[in-house]
Amino acid sequence: MIQVTKTWLPPLEEYTARLRGVWERGWITNNGQLVQELEEQLRRQLGVGHLKAVANGTLALQLALKALGVRGEVITTPFSYVATTGSLLWEGCTPVFVDIEPKTLCLDPALVEAAITPRTMAILATHVYGYPCDVEALAVIARRHGLKVIYDAAHAFGTRYQGRALCDYGDASTLSFHATKLFHTVEGGAVVTRSPESAERIELMRSFGHRADDHICPGINAKMSEPHAAMGLCLLPRVEGFIAARRQICAAYDRLLLGTTLERPHCPPGCDYNHAYYPILFPGEPALLNAVAALVTAGIRPRRYFWPALNELPYVRGQRCPVAESAARRALCLPLHVDLDEGTVRRIAGVVLAALRA
Ligand SMILES: *Cc1c(COP(=O)(O)O)cnc(C)c1O
Repeated sequence: MIQVTKTWLPPLEEYTARLRGVWERGWITNNGQLVQELEEQLRRQLGVGHLKAVANGTLALQLALKALGVRGEVITTPFSYVATTGSLLWEGCTPVFVDIEPKTLCLDPALVEAAITPRTMAILATHVYGYPCDVEALAVIARRHGLKVIYDAAHAFGTRYQGRALCDYGDASTLSFHATKLFHTVEGGAVVTRSPESAERIELMRSFGHRADDHICPGINAKMSEPHAAMGLCLLPRVEGFIAARRQICAAYDRLLLGTTLERPHCPPGCDYNHAYYPILFPGEPALLNAVAALVTAGIRPRRYFWPALNELPYVRGQRCPVAESAARRALCLPLHVDLDEGTVRRIAGVVLAALRA
């Protein structure tokens, strides 16, 4: 089976060599040396303000909301992974779904402004597939209405926009380092922020809200452990190579699939894309289901990222979002990982094209 993503693992000896120091120090978690090294290397490599590593990308979202004091209504995207909405509900916030913009599939700023009420406290937007939201427009709206902006940047690791890391925009951005993501620590994540105060609150809150015997605020356990950080340190020097390899695979898919009835979301100008995913939009859901069936028969497992639209989850009171609902019915991510060879890409594209013609 060829899966939609494949976890890249370093040579085992390289990983165990990273663990030697952990064994010598006998320090396996609680802000260990490898976590600190990983945070510093990530901060420098991405060129971001403050970066706090956490146990996963969902806790990163929860901590960002908590640390920024976000409650009440939060304007959010219907087109993302379910963790974006789930973390809002888990934090007792009310998600207000606003439709997406059809080219980037990210939150539409014009509709955001129209949906603001006196109860709105924040905007939680996703850089879906690693494509940038309209960060400039959202910043202007947020400033005008006194709102916080949090970006779910789980897909955006390595994407740069206007010469700056995409995860460096907003009051805070969250990253996921899950094994299925472009860069991973098995399980893991981070909160990125330019605000030293927010960074300090996140550091406190990820570790029970106390410093030694000084209890400051309620917290949770969202610490990253040393074996997780060790994985990240093995992968980080290779990220540029991963992105370059993915760019080539995406170009190969493009050559085979563009010029048909398939559509591709795209990056706005000024975006240096990370090629985290290869999404295609079918003309309709029947065509998508045909292609999925043909791919599965051929031993290929694409994923319906992202379906359903989050405003249609059974446990939310969703506003109608026709663009997102249509995209969710038509979007499919094809397999994309660094050791996918050109022959396999041709085979996958061939199955999709045959299903389109059927
Ligand atoms: C993967 C993902 C998350 C959750 O991250 P975890 O590390 O798995 O908790 C959140 N948001 C989006 C958009 C994601 O793709």
